[in-house]
Amino acid sequence: MKSDFYAEYAPAAPLAATPRASLQLSCVVPAYNEQENLEKFVRALIPVVQGLTQDFEILIVNDGSRDDTHDVAMRLLAQGLPVRYLALSRNFGKEAAMSAGIDHARGNVVLLIDADFQHPLELLPDMHQLWQNGYEMVYGVIADRGAESGAKRLGTDLFYRLMNTGSNVQVPPNAGDYRWMDRKVVDALKALPERHRFMKGLYAWVGFKTAALPFVPQDRAAGESSFNLRRLGSLALLGLTSFTTLPLRIWSVIGGGVALLALLYGAWIIADTLIFGTDLAGWPTLSAGIMLFSGVQLMSIGILGEYIGRIYDEVKQRPTYLIARDEDRSPLREPQ
Ligand code: UDP
Ligand code: MG
Repeated sequence: MKSDFYAEYAPAAPLAATPRASLQLSCVVPAYNEQENLEKFVRALIPVVQGLTQDFEILIVNDGSRDDTHDVAMRLLAQGLPVRYLALSRNFGKEAAMSAGIDHARGNVVLLIDADFQHPLELLPDMHQLWQNGYEMVYGVIADRGAESGAKRLGTDLFYRLMNTGSNVQVPPNAGDYRWMDRKVVDALKALPERHRFMKGLYAWVGFKTAALPFVPQDRAAGESSFNLRRLGSLALLGLTSFTTLPLRIWSVIGGGVALLALLYGAWIIADTLIFGTDLAGWPTLSAGIMLFSGVQLMSIGILGEYIGRIYDEVKQRPTYLIARDEDRSPLREPQ
């Protein structure tokens, strides 16, 4: 194998028995406004996959693109490529698009890969090899975030720190959605009932024997990233509220601490009054205290609100995505 792999965050699950059954590969490609990349990408992916197996399908999930991604996909179908094309009824976000792909994939292995050439195809033979060796899941880890802005790197770092102190599953930092998953893992993911799916957390939650392959992402081939800081922020909030209750606990601790201090201060005031008598001083302390603690209370209510909002979203039980169109030219059939 070319590259080294590491398994720092891998759970202690046993390796699967080898040799494996023959590979049937479903490649899930979420696409949002990828008109310039999609055809080139699929045409680049196919020969690499053919090097591994003849039994494969490419599952293009059009996540409500506003450009000509749809026409490009229809053209690929017309050209007779082994493609299944799912068009969602609107833009549901990448997590939902990947869930749609995972739900419809029929291979005994599912590969998640971006349509913008940021996930190097050269990793596929290594992923295949690790799976052959008994690993159930192999994912790419971004080895170098050099090209990203300082703010993005700082935010990412903070996010993984918060996430991993508060949660009992460890989400490996910088692991992307570039993933090779055995059917066992896929079925486990499909069985998880939540509607709002923070995939990075879910992969970690299901466990299984996992290996990580470091890679350096190339620049996007064409077009722009759909994840600006605001969208990344809301993804981070989804991750935190779905996988850790640490933010809630922090406020219990702060509340406890403040109450204790207030008690001591109260006792001191009483003593002070009894011993020295009092004139009505202290209003600046009072108003500063009121302002500080109303701010703290509003913040803690806001954090509560995030969790309640998440609960509200889940109890509505709306589907994760809706499919507007399903064109199936894939040679793979349901696993028996
Ligand atoms: N994507 C998607 N739905 C979205 C946003 C992105 O399906 O709402 C797809 C996109 O077409 C690409 C992958 O997700 O294949 C990664 O998106 P992007 O390159 O914009 O994100 P980044 O690589 O910057 O994290
Ligand atoms: Mg990208």
